[in-house]
Amino acid sequence: MEYFIDTHAHLLHNYDAKHLDDVAESGLVKQVWLLPLNLYVPEFNFAHDDEVLEVGKRYPGLFLPFGFIDYFKGPEQIDRMKEQGFVALKAIRPPLPYDDERYFPIYERAEALGMPILFHVGIISHRTREQLLKPVKTGPGNMHPNMLDGIADAFPKLKLIHGHQGVPWINELFESIFYYKNVSCTVTGLIDYDWLIHNLDRRTSFGEPFSSRMMFACDGFYGKEEYWKRILELATFTRMFYREVGRTWHWGATEKEFMHGNAERLFPEFTALLK
Ligand SMILES: [Zn+2]
Repeated sequence: MEYFIDTHAHLLHNYDAKHLDDVAESGLVKQVWLLPLNLYVPEFNFAHDDEVLEVGKRYPGLFLPFGFIDYFKGPEQIDRMKEQGFVALKAIRPPLPYDDERYFPIYERAEALGMPILFHVGIISHRTREQLLKPVKTGPGNMHPNMLDGIADAFPKLKLIHGHQGVPWINELFESIFYYKNVSCTVTGLIDYDWLIHNLDRRTSFGEPFSSRMMFACDGFYGKEEYWKRILELATFTRMFYREVGRTWHWGATEKEFMHGNAERLFPEFTALLK
């Protein structure tokens, strides 16, 4: 099986290190963008950014450590994360909408330091307030896809990534990809396959096919054999989706680009980290 790049993934707290060695040696995944989940209570067993960084340092170029934006803190946290070795950032559950201008100093530092930001957009896993470590909304109201547009406008050198398609506001994703060159999407979570079928061969305002901005991801957890099997199943299914469903559409020919080529082309700074 040809390799893939998993552009949206998580890590288990207390991950099985021996198993991660097996994943690294499999050759099936070339790079994993590892996103910390700092906001959840320990019972969920999700790794926070310290463990994500630890794994990123143990497997340089393979597991890319994303730093967790704490919206209750100022922009200096971004400089600190850069110094620590994080290569990009993860945004989720802000107390105010993503595009609130009070957050712009954070984005300004990310742009200056060349750290792309992956924003969770749209539907979010159901959690109660007691399961979250900070006083934030439990629903997705502050995480609309269209909120990336104002940020993309203000910081044209900052790379913004829709982490998911933003269901149920998927038309906002359309607009965002249509207008902004610095925006891409990790297609994962609640996937709207009908939208993909009918939109992947449409063109942006610059004439590029939409399929050139979309990247494969599992939104799965690394660190345990049974979860890895699920990730491999999803990779196989996705290849078949492009090959068989896409056969009669123009986008069907973009299987390799979706599985890894778009990520390599849009993020050469990450590709350069590969050994
Ligand atoms: Zn996720």
